[in-house]
Amino acid sequence: MPEGDVVYRTARRLGEALDGRILTRSDFRVPRHATADLTGRAVLETVSRGKHLLTRVDGGLTVHTHLRMEGSWRISPAGRRPPSGDVVRLVLANADWQAVGVRLGMVDLVATGEEHRLVGHLGPDPLGPDWDPAEAVRRLMGSPGLTIGEALLDQRNLAGIGTVYRAETLFLAGVSPWRPVGEVEDVRRIVALAQRLLHANGERERRVTTGDARPGRDTWVYGRAGRPCLRCGRRISRGEMGAQPQERLIFWCRHCQPGEPTG
Ligand SMILES: [Zn+2]
Repeated sequence: MPEGDVVYRTARRLGEALDGRILTRSDFRVPRHATADLTGRAVLETVSRGKHLLTRVDGGLTVHTHLRMEGSWRISPAGRRPPSGDVVRLVLANADWQAVGVRLGMVDLVATGEEHRLVGHLGPDPLGPDWDPAEAVRRLMGSPGLTIGEALLDQRNLAGIGTVYRAETLFLAGVSPWRPVGEVEDVRRIVALAQRLLHANGERERRVTTGDARPGRDTWVYGRAGRPCLRCGRRISRGEMGAQPQERLIFWCRHCQPGEPTG
């Protein structure tokens, strides 16, 4: 699933293709907005908010999209046909470029003044201009009995963290994902590490959390179950946590991240 860094980069690419240009075509292929037409309006900007994308257009309208599990925005020169077999949900095009939204998990069209109804519940975004680490800490500590692994994935606490950043952040912090938030010694440090990782990857195409881009060494624990920990050499563990089926996977090192419940 795309996480905050991918969504942030997607917003930038959409901005490069669409900002300041007049839409010559808009094609909403979702029943709710099938008749919507933004042709003739200028695109003002696209911003990311956690895993959500907000494309603001002239006249006080916002196109809200979410990549969910397998969505993407593909940008190409105007007029090119999307590859057959793609499940296209939305096309926004101008005289030069077209942006094709494929397998998007959400497509909405709302008044820009109503964006809060879609993203107002989100916690602070480490990649946002209004990043507020103290508020993120406050929200995380609001559920002291929840495991830190589950709390980090709750978009109401921090927006943009997915299973990769959860696993990598907790490894770097040396904290077991199974530890209750109330028993974590330094939640501020976890929040700072998450922000640093997301920020470092917001600007580059390929996600690296270790500083080593070689295959198999670009993450500390994520996707490395059964392989030796890059710090201590012991085998990385893999498990499932949380209620949302698509968000369950967790990877950690039992030696470097001690403290999981034995029961
Ligand atoms: Zn280890």
